[in-house]
Amino acid sequence: MNQYIASVLGDLKARYPHQPEFLQAAEEILPTLTAVFDRHPEYRDAALLERFVEPERAILFRVPWVDDEGHTRINRGYRVQFSSAIGPYKGGLRFHPSVTLGMLKFLALEQTLKNSLTGLPLGAAKGGADFNPRGKSDGEVMRFCQSFMTELARHIGPSMDVPAGDIGVGAREIGFMFGQYKRLVARHEGVLTGKGMGYGGSQARTEATGYGLMYLVKTMLDNHDLSPDGMRAVISGSGNVAIFAAEKAAQMGASVIAMSDSEGFILDEAGIDLSCVKTLKLNERARISEYPKRTGRGRFQPGAKGIWQLPCDLALPCATQNELDGGSASVLIKNGVKAVAEGANMPATLSASHAFQEAGVLFMPGKAANAGGVAVSAFEMTQNAGFTSWTFDKVDRELQAVMDRIYHRVAHTAARYGKAGDFILGANVAGFIKVADAMMAQGVV
Ligand code: NDP
Repeated sequence: MNQYIASVLGDLKARYPHQPEFLQAAEEILPTLTAVFDRHPEYRDAALLERFVEPERAILFRVPWVDDEGHTRINRGYRVQFSSAIGPYKGGLRFHPSVTLGMLKFLALEQTLKNSLTGLPLGAAKGGADFNPRGKSDGEVMRFCQSFMTELARHIGPSMDVPAGDIGVGAREIGFMFGQYKRLVARHEGVLTGKGMGYGGSQARTEATGYGLMYLVKTMLDNHDLSPDGMRAVISGSGNVAIFAAEKAAQMGASVIAMSDSEGFILDEAGIDLSCVKTLKLNERARISEYPKRTGRGRFQPGAKGIWQLPCDLALPCATQNELDGGSASVLIKNGVKAVAEGANMPATLSASHAFQEAGVLFMPGKAANAGGVAVSAFEMTQNAGFTSWTFDKVDRELQAVMDRIYHRVAHTAARYGKAGDFILGANVAGFIKVADAMMAQGVV
């Protein structure tokens, strides 16, 4: 790491000691940019890195709502508009009790590089609230979403900022928020992605992140004389990303033997029955521990982290940040894992990702591996702007093409910077350069 980067990182650590996830992301990204700044002294002269690590804007607001007992409840809502260098702000909304400004800054920083990597004209943002939809009635979720959107609406728009879903924000929440936005602005316009098919959504948006993950994994494996066909796969989580990653992995011939939720994991050596997981987690909002009872197969074990003790060829962490630590990585490596790709954002800790790289395990970071969701969101924006809708096959083909390009862009950049196979460096550098050049062109803003 050169002195300039070390000093910017040092400033961030001193200024934001209470934002550990943001600092963790910065610590992963900044040192990998050393060679870029060595080659481009003009970036440093323009204080580009100091500007790059600060969000353009962060909005914080209260979200008052009334629960089913008539009590007034308050949550904190946020939108971190991180970078509009290459396009309108774009990124998901997360509803989870752990949401803080620091967490959203980490997600928005990652999103900046991810959106750049897609090759599409997308800036980056992230938002959400410390609201827990779990255990709330539909009426409570609707009132919360309406109150959240009442404030957020003035900060977003189809060519300004286009939010999507993330943890805790699925089709139901997007529907409620879209309804409220439309009522406030009196326009039916493409301001959110992940909408229902009947009112401006895109085919394959639901599947996009999980399918995209497996498209990229397949390309990565193909390029290393490996194949998902016949691999034992372990996939953490059982939400939107995990379920559709599992579906595509199975279609590609892998045997998905384990999935999880925040309470524990299920192991089914016969291959997970995905229709049961979909019913439990998507339709009934139930716990994954129900799986053995419903299917008469497999077993449930409490403790989500235990999933990484299972021997497998392919590990796909698709649940949440920092769910796979250095200890879990050592076990996976000892058990012979061949490839790890992040479906979630930053699920592997720094020590875990470095351990995989040192052991020669193929490791693909989330900003490349899970970019399929935002890519199809961009296709949804394109369809909305053109008052048209594409077929599932067309969206799926375009998604595959984007994921293929991302893999090659990441691999090629790593090789060009003398670090062939270092996909963390490749993703960071390739994503950063496009944003940096746009910032240089636009002057000091
Ligand atoms: P969902 O809310 O649909 O699902 C999250 C899943 O993870 C749930 O099954 C949840 O279980 C589980 N989970 C939460 N914490 C843990 C834990 N500590 N250990 C094991 N499982 C856990 O979210 P998404 O699938 O949409 O998002 C998952 C990740 O992917 C996030 O990091 C998100 O930022 C990222 N991502 C999502 C995209 C998308 O298009 N949706 C796009 C790109 C990235 P429980 O039911 O118990 O809460």
